[in-house]
Amino acid sequence: MQVVANEKAMKTPEQTAGGTLAHLAEIRARIVQAARDCDRAPEDVTLVCVSKTFGAEDIKPVLEAGERVFGENKVQEALGKWRELKKLYADVELHLIGPLQTNKAREAVEFFDVIETLDRSHLAAVLAKEIARSGRHPKLYAQVNTGAEPQKAGVLPQEADQFIASCRNDHGLEISGLMCIPPFDEQASPHFALLGQIAKRNGIPILSMGMSADFELAIQQGATHVRVGTAIFGKR
Ligand SMILES: *Cc1c(COP(=O)(O)O)cnc(C)c1O
Repeated sequence: MQVVANEKAMKTPEQTAGGTLAHLAEIRARIVQAARDCDRAPEDVTLVCVSKTFGAEDIKPVLEAGERVFGENKVQEALGKWRELKKLYADVELHLIGPLQTNKAREAVEFFDVIETLDRSHLAAVLAKEIARSGRHPKLYAQVNTGAEPQKAGVLPQEADQFIASCRNDHGLEISGLMCIPPFDEQASPHFALLGQIAKRNGIPILSMGMSADFELAIQQGATHVRVGTAIFGKR
């Protein structure tokens, strides 16, 4: 008789469901603490569990533990695993956090609840068309390239006001939030502050900022949504 290798046994401890749930509990506690430390209500901070590269089997325990907000960075990958998962957990809120090509805009509008990566006029135009066509209204966040990094998506900070106005006035889109990914090798704090300023002067209530390494700092600086992957699911 052939012995089939147990897949679980070959994973490192933090990749098992137990490890993931322990990590999740710790991240939840740290979010609550970080909010209280700056006199904010913990429920005003939403944890977006970033499940990119992880499969349904890794995600299910986190759903079972009550999390409902998840982030994925690729449209096709998200469709592959979330079509089934969404049938089991109908109240899931799925965020697209990776760059969106216009040829995927239709699927993105049909499938995602929040698109965090609106970053150019042409995409705004295409999204407006797809929203009108489908009747679905995913929430839209504008992504700001706070570090003006050439390789990174996002509208430049000095062009953000005009971009937001154009989304609103030219394309009839509601911009619910702003999102940023600070440069990897810089202090995140000035980038979080900059995003907060742009949001404030444009009357935008949602700030999606802070990842595994810096979500507490982001909460201190007003994040309403923190996007945490590695610290929950383990290394990708
Ligand atoms: C992958 C990713 C995250 C999560 O990063 P971690 O460091 O794993 O927490 C957050 N935001 C975006 C846009 C990402 O692509």
